[in-house]
Amino acid sequence: MGTLMNDLTNLIRPEINNLPTYNAGLALDRFRDIYGVICLAKLDSNENPHGPSSHAIDAIQQGADKVSFYPDATSLNLRQQIGAGVNIPADRLVMGNGSEDLIGAIFRATLRRGDHVITICPSFGLHEFGAMACGATVAKIPFNADWSFPVKEVVEQLTKVPRVLIFSSPSNPAGPTIREDEFDVIINALSPETLFVFDEAYVEFVSEDARFDALAKLNATKLAWVSLRTFSKAYGLAGIRVGYGICAHATIAGALMKARNPFGVNALAAAAAGSAYADQKHLKESVHLIVSERHRLQFEMAARGYKTAPSQANFLFFECGENGVQFAEKLRHKGILIKGWLEEPYLNWARVSVGLPEQNDAFLNALDHDNK
Ligand SMILES: *Cc1c(COP(=O)(O)O)cnc(C)c1O
Repeated sequence: MGTLMNDLTNLIRPEINNLPTYNAGLALDRFRDIYGVICLAKLDSNENPHGPSSHAIDAIQQGADKVSFYPDATSLNLRQQIGAGVNIPADRLVMGNGSEDLIGAIFRATLRRGDHVITICPSFGLHEFGAMACGATVAKIPFNADWSFPVKEVVEQLTKVPRVLIFSSPSNPAGPTIREDEFDVIINALSPETLFVFDEAYVEFVSEDARFDALAKLNATKLAWVSLRTFSKAYGLAGIRVGYGICAHATIAGALMKARNPFGVNALAAAAAGSAYADQKHLKESVHLIVSERHRLQFEMAARGYKTAPSQANFLFFECGENGVQFAEKLRHKGILIKGWLEEPYLNWARVSVGLPEQNDAFLNALDHDNK
């Protein structure tokens, strides 16, 4: 007879026991409880400080009297609406409780123990942890020193035909977006036996000159792919939890529907997402404001000696000259939330989301006062 602790550890699958805890941002009420100061700027989770379209709020309020009913498990209306927007049939779309939900579903649907997954680092934590939870081995390829995508190394790894290639562009946390010619090289090197998960959580922020239609390119191939998008970032609906996958084939979408929770997208969330998607004017305006603030923030940080990676998203990744988590902790005591990075070799880096001008000023102000 072991101790209770041993029994419990044996009860849990080793892949889960060995998993690091996800470095999630701090929710506002938790922040107040722990630090006892007013939060001046919550810049740790890439949320949209302008909030969602007012139509999304209206939709949530109008949906409130129907919450005794289960929602449509397949979110068909929403899939049709988005499908029309991206010119892909609804049966190739799958909705999730945030795109994180779909990342988990993708791994559960594809990975066998011992499988290989390739990603690029610094990386979005769940790209790695979700795969590890399924017993896969994750190879992380670092960005080139100039923050271009490590295409040559990815192509090399692809010759071993991993089960999944997954990375984000614009990259979270680094910020750069993959160039069109680099993207072409990767899709030409892919085998149809590898699922390519292209996480486009920040696609709405990409500037005109860096933008290309990755979806059309993927669609013209015979590869297995999923493009992931979300309502959490540019659409300002992080709290509502809606993301979606656009799939190469209805078979993939069907498999992901089986691998996720059937009612993952609740009725209020579906209504809010549909209304937000219909309001492209609000989206464009808030993206424009955020991008111009990002330029200002980057300039002001450079003036203070902070080196930032090039960003096409709503955040900046920067070297802070000391352990990133400790650096972020000092800022928390001043009411500023950013995310210190917890991944080798980026332990001296942190990520700051672009907030409202006064929030960015509060962050800059905190940098000026003894945070060096
Ligand atoms: C924020 C983010 C997501 C998704 O978030 P959800 O809120 O679950 O939709 C997915 N991928 C990346 C790279 C992100 O940064």
